[in-house]
Amino acid sequence: MFHWEGGLKLTRPGLAIDFRRRQPRAFISHAHTDHMARHAYALCTPATAALYHARLGPRPVLEMPYREPIEWGGVRLTAYPAGHCLGSAMLLAEDGDQSLLYTGDFKLGESATAEAAELPPAKILVVESTYGHPDYRMPPRAEVVGQLLELVRAVLKAGRVPTIVAYSLGKAQEVTRLLTAEGIPVLQHRTAFRLSRVYEACGVNLGEYRLLDGRPEPGCAVIVPPRTPPREDVSEVRVAVTGWAVDAGAKHRFGVDHALPLSDHADYDDLLEAVARVDPRKVYCTHGPESFADRLRDDGFDAHPLGRPSQRRLF
Ligand SMILES: [Zn+2]
Repeated sequence: MFHWEGGLKLTRPGLAIDFRRRQPRAFISHAHTDHMARHAYALCTPATAALYHARLGPRPVLEMPYREPIEWGGVRLTAYPAGHCLGSAMLLAEDGDQSLLYTGDFKLGESATAEAAELPPAKILVVESTYGHPDYRMPPRAEVVGQLLELVRAVLKAGRVPTIVAYSLGKAQEVTRLLTAEGIPVLQHRTAFRLSRVYEACGVNLGEYRLLDGRPEPGCAVIVPPRTPPREDVSEVRVAVTGWAVDAGAKHRFGVDHALPLSDHADYDDLLEAVARVDPRKVYCTHGPESFADRLRDDGFDAHPLGRPSQRRLF
């Protein structure tokens, strides 16, 4: 049903999946910049279309609402929520008695700003396995959220500025919602703010947040993208929120005061659970360590790594 041609392609419809280079026809699983390009024609969910247009300008798109199958290029295509960020989708392709589920970036469990993941059964599974190593078991989400709130409140009480370092799409909005729900107003860097407006237009309420414009006001938390230089006009306490925070020394690597493991990706146990739920005949693992396919083979799955193992990706 598929082949590899510098990336994953569905063979019969000639549909490129999550390509970073312009394609005649491409499916975009979500609007992170490492999953899309200015394609001639793209298929994606309505929310991903809105974010794609906000990031790369208006482009021709066929919108695929979740769970509404379309017949396209001789196959049946259906998008399912992936739980990774607003609009993120898995793609189920069905061709006669063959079926393939491509997960894209996904996360199981709760999110304040993304629809919960759904995993339909499929005979072939292409699974994004970034955290496919037992070192990447995330602590319970409620525990991490509790640590984040406690830390932000303590920093505000000390008269300093809690500055959360978070990707502008997905993590920034998730953290904003977590903080504003607890009465902590948020100031967002302009890149996150622009995308937050799209979230709101798509019906996701993010609470009391504003554009960070000049010196942060007292009592507010600030959200900035990675690699934003430190401010000199205020006393910041920098907090990175990323799954990589489970690594020893993560805060030094990210150049922050604290690192908390709030992740938008399935952790090791989620990955194993996802594969068990889809119960495929064949599994292809992308973006993760090759040892994850070995582990799946130990569990009795016909599993293989697909594509080149990537560098550690940050979204
Ligand atoms: Zn992503």
